[in-house]
Amino acid sequence: MKNLKIAIQKSGRLNEKSVQLLKNCGLDFENYKSSLITTVNNFNLEILFLRDDDIPGYVAQGIADLGIVGENVIDESQEKVTYLQRLGFGRCTLKIGIPKDSPIQQLQDLQGKAIATTYPNILQEFLAEHNLSAEIRQISGSVEIAPGLGLSDAICDIVSTGGTLKSNGLKPFADVRRSEAILIGRDGLTENPILCELLQRVQSVLRAKE
Ligand code: ATP
Ligand code: ZN
Repeated sequence: MKNLKIAIQKSGRLNEKSVQLLKNCGLDFENYKSSLITTVNNFNLEILFLRDDDIPGYVAQGIADLGIVGENVIDESQEKVTYLQRLGFGRCTLKIGIPKDSPIQQLQDLQGKAIATTYPNILQEFLAEHNLSAEIRQISGSVEIAPGLGLSDAICDIVSTGGTLKSNGLKPFADVRRSEAILIGRDGLTENPILCELLQRVQSVLRAKE
């Protein structure tokens, strides 16, 4: 039977837990060193090590059959993929943050304001749900410095402890969406016997943790 391909994060916050999950499923393979693809020795699976942002697209196009990636990244990508299993790690919240002394007090006060983010699509959807229009300033990182530099009135970014907000003179203002790591698959894969076996193992690892 043809091997399936699963895409996981090469390095970063989801790498270790993704690798651990697959190892706990009894899969024998080497973690990412320099080869971007590795074959599992005892299962019909190849592992692709990618930047997380590329994973939804690879799966949607069928270059990878499966992927492990944060919901935030899936949503932002707007790629069409199937959710197979929530994985319970990589939990975080995308929030709007504002300067500590900001005049913004309620959601409506965001109307017409400039908001800096690396998540323009999710932010746009959130604003539309609340009948708001704001100017979305898309930047590629270090979003928290934007208000201090006069680039925006607010930011929208992943916040875990709030430490980065605080050290940049910001405070959390509103939750936009929660996220955790998800096992995704390309459309039309659900009847595949390799996937069924893998999914069973993943689910029993997750159950053992409860
Ligand atoms: P890559 O190099 O793969 O693009 P990255 O820098 O975009 O990596 P990481 O910071 O490694 O991404 O985060 C990967 C994912 O981990 C996030 O998209 C999110 O789903 C999740 N995550 C969990 N906690 C946090 C957190 N405190 N900050 C940022 N992301 C978090
Ligand atoms: Zn990324």
